[in-house]
Amino acid sequence: MSFELRDRDLLGRIGRLTVKGKTIETPAFMPVVNPLIETIPAKKLRQDFGCEILITNSYIIRNHFKDVPNLELHKLLDYDGVVMTDSGAYQILVYGEVEVTQDEIINWQKQIGSDISVILDIPTGWDVPREKVEFTVKETLRRAEEALPLIEDTPNLWVGPIQGGRHLGLVAESATRIGKMPFDIHALGSPTEVMERYMYPVLVDMAMTAKLNAPVERPIHLFGAGHPNILAMSVAMGYDLFDSAAYALFAKDERYLTTRGTYLFKDLQYLPCSCPVCRNQSPEDIRDLPRGERQRVIAQHNMHVTMSEMETVKQAISEGSLWDLVETRAKGHAQMTSALKTLSKYSKHLEAGSPGFKGKGVFYYDYHSLAKPEVIRYQNRLVNNYQSPENIDTRILISAPQRKPYSRSREFRKLKEKLAQGKKEIQYCFIAAPYGLIPEYLAETYPASQYQIAEPLDQETIQHTVNNIIEYLEKYPIKNTVIIFRDNEMERELVGKLGEKYPSIKIEELDQTGLSDQILGLIIK
Ligand SMILES: [Zn+2]
Repeated sequence: MSFELRDRDLLGRIGRLTVKGKTIETPAFMPVVNPLIETIPAKKLRQDFGCEILITNSYIIRNHFKDVPNLELHKLLDYDGVVMTDSGAYQILVYGEVEVTQDEIINWQKQIGSDISVILDIPTGWDVPREKVEFTVKETLRRAEEALPLIEDTPNLWVGPIQGGRHLGLVAESATRIGKMPFDIHALGSPTEVMERYMYPVLVDMAMTAKLNAPVERPIHLFGAGHPNILAMSVAMGYDLFDSAAYALFAKDERYLTTRGTYLFKDLQYLPCSCPVCRNQSPEDIRDLPRGERQRVIAQHNMHVTMSEMETVKQAISEGSLWDLVETRAKGHAQMTSALKTLSKYSKHLEAGSPGFKGKGVFYYDYHSLAKPEVIRYQNRLVNNYQSPENIDTRILISAPQRKPYSRSREFRKLKEKLAQGKKEIQYCFIAAPYGLIPEYLAETYPASQYQIAEPLDQETIQHTVNNIIEYLEKYPIKNTVIIFRDNEMERELVGKLGEKYPSIKIEELDQTGLSDQILGLIIK
């Protein structure tokens, strides 16, 4: 196998995965195709929707075509892209057992020419007692070990599933142990039920735990994630492969997917989409179709919107704006917004995965943006690496001017010029949300030089900024501190707190005209 990384943002990445001479780009969405009920034929999925990879179920195929001599999967599906096969583990989850042994299903996947194949793992499922969860983790690991002699030296890529459900300690153990075995790809098992119940915050904890404990150089698959509104966040967590039958299942109930949520088709007055289905027909046209035909065109729309979201996600990675996209998508759904908060807990990990400057300014919408890699990175740099210049005895905290970079603003240059006469060694720091302090010498560097923040600030952002400033002042204490503030909510809060903490601090307020000579006089004194 080769898995080559081309670009990244947060933990998300654009990669090239090669199997049996075929290369696909990741992150990739795999539609679930049932050869017995092809809502959209596989060939059409490739030609009209650009699906270079799909997933089907080797267990179902075996049950129906076991006796067909020399059955070849790609011929059966009439599809020449990459085919992943599941093993029947999902049927174990639903029916409790399957009528096949692991050896049989592994050999079957080899025999029919599957490209990416799965061992017969035991999915954890939901609402099961802890002993049962422990059993699924242990048994999956045992089966993985047992499968190794059967899968070595095969051209297929083999998937080592990770179990543990919502028991994060077990997820971590499962990921660590299977990660030591020579599998090509890993997959987080059974989050489907979590997603069906919209427990997105739980999903984030499960997915992040698995991701952080699995080998980073291997692709990782999130089983059953297919609603377009969850894709951006899942990619941000470092997942590369997704599969779902949602496009077809939702269409059966005449549900229309969008990145902002799901609509019942009968409720739609308009079609908020520009795919070929929606561009050429009105909602009435589609409602007038016979039921089967209507379901078919809704499935086509659902597939278009999912594939198009994947492109949007990749574009966001390439321009370094994946967090913005995740925030936008999360705001469409209350549980997704909660999931975004959960994801913020992992901001240090997301930051570690992000490259630096991608040429784009940073935009802060509200407190959710505090988890952005740029903020985390700036704070680490300031508190841990930034050293105050030596020999200074005075630090002036000044409300950030209107123009960036702050250090080049007229207001600031005037202040500096005047104070230079006093011949004191002074460190200048700008007060700026959400960063806290921006020392003069960082003001011209990214991201301090290129960002925008939506005002008025919310309480969380105000507290965050004030706390950052206090943290810095405590870490790098200095003899004299002067604060020149503007009369706004954040800076009033800051002045109140600093005044209490440091009674000797000099506090001056900027008036409408900015720095008056009178204020300058006070500071110099
Ligand atoms: Zn459409």
